[in-house]
Amino acid sequence: MRTPNTRARAFGIERHVDAMGRVVIPKDFMHDLHWTAGYAVQVRMVEDGILITPAPHVCQMCHHDIMEDQPLVVDGRAVCRPCAKAVAETLLVSHGR
Ligand SMILES: [Zn+2]
Repeated sequence: MRTPNTRARAFGIERHVDAMGRVVIPKDFMHDLHWTAGYAVQVRMVEDGILITPAPHVCQMCHHDIMEDQPLVVDGRAVCRPCAKAVAETLLVSHGR
């Protein structure tokens, strides 16, 4: 496991917003947060900027909207019931049960 970049966490990393309004999330931040390409996020305004957090109602496995009132949350990530069921069945099969 890599050592978290504590300086980057404490002081941040400067980036430029491109013409389309995009900003690249630093690779170390992506790694430390376990975010991968396609990871659904929620972007919202806060007093002095923008806060990016995991999307609370998008399944982080299939990327579809989660219709349930209370999505399953695994390690801080929302997962829909069909994906959770598929993982559970895979675990049962891989363990020979
Ligand atoms: Zn899903």
